[in-house]
Amino acid sequence: MEYTLKNEYLNGLMQKVIEKNPSEPEFYQAVHEFLTSVEQIVDIHPELIDKKVLERIVEPERTVMFRVAWVDDKGEIQVNRGYRIQFNSAIGPYKGGIRLHPSVNLGILKFLGFEQIFKNSLTGLAMGGAKGGSDFDPKGKSDNEVMSFCQSFMRELYRHIGPDCDVPAGDIGTGAREIGYMFGQYKKITNEFTGVLTGKKLSFGGSLARTEATGYGLCYFTNCMLKKKGTSFEGKTVVISGAGNVAIYACEKAQQLGAKVVALCDSTGYIHDPDGIKLDVVKDIKEVRRARISEYVKAVPSATYKDGCSGIWTIPCDIALPCATQNELNLESAKTLVANGVKFVAEGANMPSTPDAIAYFQENGVFFAPGKASNAGGVATSGLEMAQNSQRLSWTFEEVDAKLKGIMENIFKNADETATAIGHEDNLVMGANIAGLLRVSDAMIAQGVI
Ligand code: NDP
Repeated sequence: MEYTLKNEYLNGLMQKVIEKNPSEPEFYQAVHEFLTSVEQIVDIHPELIDKKVLERIVEPERTVMFRVAWVDDKGEIQVNRGYRIQFNSAIGPYKGGIRLHPSVNLGILKFLGFEQIFKNSLTGLAMGGAKGGSDFDPKGKSDNEVMSFCQSFMRELYRHIGPDCDVPAGDIGTGAREIGYMFGQYKKITNEFTGVLTGKKLSFGGSLARTEATGYGLCYFTNCMLKKKGTSFEGKTVVISGAGNVAIYACEKAQQLGAKVVALCDSTGYIHDPDGIKLDVVKDIKEVRRARISEYVKAVPSATYKDGCSGIWTIPCDIALPCATQNELNLESAKTLVANGVKFVAEGANMPSTPDAIAYFQENGVFFAPGKASNAGGVATSGLEMAQNSQRLSWTFEEVDAKLKGIMENIFKNADETATAIGHEDNLVMGANIAGLLRVSDAMIAQGVI
């Protein structure tokens, strides 16, 4: 892919990013999308160039890489690599998830940390952008092995984080179990019980509705899109990729709002249930047994299972919610979705649609929402968990859910109005990037050259 821009200064900056960060294609993709949006406003915001805001914002404030050695159940020593990218702290302590997946590398975490800056800004809360993780694969490991890894990971990470400095959370491969082991180790080393991680279990400071937040938030955001076009979830057919935390709770909320969700997938294949997904079956497979989605057809024989993930986008739907991983929805899939009548696409995962897929949606009348806006409900509720931890209080599910809904509606309004103001109505990619950036750039300029 060519990462060029029309504006000479921005194009030069993009080429510098490529030179300085070799072999990081996901990071280039995220920066290129961002700079393409910024191109619309550099003339009316000269400070972005004069104060070198853009040059500063593409450079992480701090990158930590470290060895994670641990012992498996056979007594063998295993070595993984750990990372924390503290990208930007202009508007609050660093905040972003920890991804545990064999594909994790520096470039993927930099793309995620970079996007997190603007996502966190859009929530309106005081959170800077960060991301971390490791190439450790929790799949197929015993609880003891996962604990051993998490403790070793935290033995280094603890010195770089803190409740007022950097507050990590979950992401792919990091759920309540992993957060629990990491929290326990942090507490043991520092002798402090603080809100240093979010996504904790309720018994030690977790927030009600955090588990549901990203998926529910995605549907609250999609609901705003539907409302703007004079319609609703009621009676719509929905396809959701993934079968993890985001996908499961997006499915739950879409069903509650009257939609029929007909497909889900994991990294091996997808299920199609034209009668509507039975979510209790999926939760049992994924949350309780940690098994493969193919098991679904044993419980629901009328459904079908097919190997491979991209086939999920051949199923006709009104609304598509990609909730698995980056670049899972390409141009070919976008064309098939459009030919089959899709009208709304909202990203639950981070950057799941390739740039040419996004362009195709936008050129063909599909109302499209980028993950940095539509999946911000998870981090927003993490922000609410931080607020509860600071006050030593717990809010009810209804209180947290109502705040989440309000935040998602505000993000939609902000991104939508910003897009309209720059003459690109309905371009939520531009709206989200610009609205997210302006808050951070204002803070960066006010805080001087640091
Ligand atoms: P989980 O680990 O809970 O679930 C990920 C799901 O995606 C699993 O079903 C997994 O299948 C599937 N998957 C992973 N890789 C692929 C692949 N290459 N092709 C097809 N399916 C794949 O993660 P989350 O649900 O938490 O995260 C999903 C996405 O949402 C990520 O992009 C994440 O960054 C983003 N996100 C998550 C937030 C959160 O609060 N959790 C907040 C905001 C964004 P398998 O089990 O086979 O690996």
